[in-house]
Amino acid sequence: MDELLKFYADQEPYIADLRSRSSCSPACNHCCYPLLRYSVAEAILLLREYPLEPGVIDEARENLRVTANDPEDWLRRKYPCPFLRDDTCQVYAVRPWICRSHFIVGNPEGCSGGTVHVLDITSSNPAYFKVMNELRLPWGPIPYPLALSWAQTYLAEGSASMFACLKKDTERR
Ligand code: SF4
Repeated sequence: MDELLKFYADQEPYIADLRSRSSCSPACNHCCYPLLRYSVAEAILLLREYPLEPGVIDEARENLRVTANDPEDWLRRKYPCPFLRDDTCQVYAVRPWICRSHFIVGNPEGCSGGTVHVLDITSSNPAYFKVMNELRLPWGPIPYPLALSWAQTYLAEGSASMFACLKKDTERR
């Protein structure tokens, strides 16, 4: 996971620059409700920092089933990110790339359903995919309930179990 943390640290100057030009603020969490996509490696980092209570990931997976993986339906139901507690991100220092790479300009209230202009510091950053490749874990960004579920299995039982779960899930979808 050191590679991932180094990648985040390397991007910090660009992030700081964009942050200074955006209207995002730490008090705002409108963007913590979508069906975000991130990698299993990032999910492992998140769960190491902030283990979730039993059942939280199962609930997120059930929400994914109910919404049939439809990001718009998910957003309508306003499911919060499981790391958002008391309106605060509990994993801010290790938040995934998707949360680091998007900023908005304009009225932040637009993020709750209106139109906003997004400053994207390359969510498709080649360096990100290089790091993911080096980690040799399923690296494509996937809906976060799956990323967390496989990461939880990895942390509890190791990579063999994680790949078995992954295979089963892939067959089911
Ligand atoms: S990880 Fe933090 S910043 Fe990202 S969606 Fe969750 S609560 Fe929000």
